[in-house]
Amino acid sequence: MPIHRTRLAPSPTGALHLGNARTFLINGALARQNDWQVVLRIEDLDGPRIKAESVEQSIELLEWLRLDWDYGPTFQSSDLVPYREALQQLAATGAVYPCNCTRREIEAASRSAPHGDEHDLRYPGTCRPAEPTPIAAETIDLDATGWRLRVPEGEATFDDQFAGKQALNIDQTVGDFQVWTKGGIPSYQLAVAVDDARQGIDRVVRGNDLLNSTPRQQLIYRSLDLSPAPAYWHVPLVRGEDGRRLAKRHGDTRLASYMAVGVDASRVIGLLAEWCGCGERRPMLVAEFAESFQIESLPREDVVFHHADHQWLMAKTQA
Ligand code: GLU
Repeated sequence: MPIHRTRLAPSPTGALHLGNARTFLINGALARQNDWQVVLRIEDLDGPRIKAESVEQSIELLEWLRLDWDYGPTFQSSDLVPYREALQQLAATGAVYPCNCTRREIEAASRSAPHGDEHDLRYPGTCRPAEPTPIAAETIDLDATGWRLRVPEGEATFDDQFAGKQALNIDQTVGDFQVWTKGGIPSYQLAVAVDDARQGIDRVVRGNDLLNSTPRQQLIYRSLDLSPAPAYWHVPLVRGEDGRRLAKRHGDTRLASYMAVGVDASRVIGLLAEWCGCGERRPMLVAEFAESFQIESLPREDVVFHHADHQWLMAKTQA
């Protein structure tokens, strides 16, 4: 039987919350049910948002929840060579080109052009050479130049194992996207694709806020001759009562805060289990969750976090 492998890939920004925990729990349960190996990969390249103590804390939180893994933790920041080599390979085929446009310049240039999604501004192609232009590895600057990947026109389609058939047009929404920043580090898209490939990850479970990143990562796979890309399960998010993605504005829903005031992790798992279609909430251990969870029963809509949920978590603490 082929061995499959997945990863838990927290960004240690100090703000891991109930929504992240729910995704990790689902990921862990699918791994246990299907005998996938689990790699813990700390995605710590996101510059100023990453602090040393939040890296420690992210691992501590996963341990507190009693999630487990077979390999790692690995740290993206510990070795940039694989990403540098990937960028050099892309440059050698002309798949990428240098671009140091600032966000303000892109905004100004695209004022009359169609806009990208919520987070991404569509890049209007200011620095794109008319034809793919190979650049030799020795001559490229990886320390002070940003690089963008040429995106082909047209729709990209893929079958998500949970969310179903997807059709997204990268060219229309984000355009040629950044794979390397002028600060000398790979973008999230490049780092994830390179790591999933070199760590042998063929099963990816993550929040559906990353659905629109998938075709970008698949394109990087193809451009680096790394196919096949993993199979993906994009699962719904947790939102506040106002319908917005769970964040600070909904009160302190950080796992670290619940841990700090002495909430029992089994209550957190119990709440998440109810949100995953496992029946009425009751304190529960990860192993129990993995036995009762069924992906077919996972609600298709986003979950809403109510103040009463917070109160239930806090019920047995002094706070
Ligand atoms: N580190 C990313 C996050 O925490 C997840 C990346 C991924 O699953 O591809 O949002």
